[in-house]
Amino acid sequence: MARRPVVVANWKMNGLQRDGVALAHAVVHGLPVLPAAAQVVICPPATLLAPIGAVLAGTGAALGGQDCHAKPSGAFTGDVAAAMLADLGCRYVIVGHSERRALHAEHDAMVCAKATAAHLAGLTAVICVGESLADREAGRMLDIVTRQLDLCVPKAATPANTIVAYEPVWAIGTGKVATPAEVAEIHGAMRGRLARQIASGGDICLLYGGSVKPDNAASLLSLDDVDGALVGGASLDAQQFLAIAAQARLR
Ligand code: PEP
Repeated sequence: MARRPVVVANWKMNGLQRDGVALAHAVVHGLPVLPAAAQVVICPPATLLAPIGAVLAGTGAALGGQDCHAKPSGAFTGDVAAAMLADLGCRYVIVGHSERRALHAEHDAMVCAKATAAHLAGLTAVICVGESLADREAGRMLDIVTRQLDLCVPKAATPANTIVAYEPVWAIGTGKVATPAEVAEIHGAMRGRLARQIASGGDICLLYGGSVKPDNAASLLSLDDVDGALVGGASLDAQQFLAIAAQARLR
């Protein structure tokens, strides 16, 4: 089965309404020149989901949340349920981002519960995994990433409702990027692990994230097991984000 490339913009906690709407318009303006197969997803802060959703409506670009709660509703001040994201028109939600893991003490079981909540709400979960610098220096990256896959990806996941993003923590927002050889090794291992653990798991879309920029996107997105990118910093600049998305190819 051909895997559709996906390029996800993670705006993190950036942008007021005017900035976000202008950025979304600039991205939409550039969509016609992208390879038709590429799915662009924009994940703005929760406060901008409605206005950005209005800009994206009917364009082919999809809206996503940056996180969701594992429960459908209740006394969880400040949190957002997956069904609330779906209600606003989201089709995707990022779960298990390393900033959530580090700053909000989210562990693998919580990430799995959030992914399940996303599935129940009809959303595609973009599940983030990745090793720390200490893990990489100790040569433990494959162990860490395969363990995260085992614990974070629900056993009932399908290629239709799940994307896995490999984001080495040391590469996020640092300007340091994993080499194509490092990414190829991890993505190949992830592909094999998912194929063994989950029915049709070998067809799950695998993204790379971590300081992806226009000048390194081609070398990463041309790798066999890299089906797209999760882009942080560069997604705040429409031209940079579009230049990255232009490198995405049908697998
Ligand atoms: C991210 O936050 O998911 C990310 C990959 O950020 P950056 O591209 O800035 O490294």
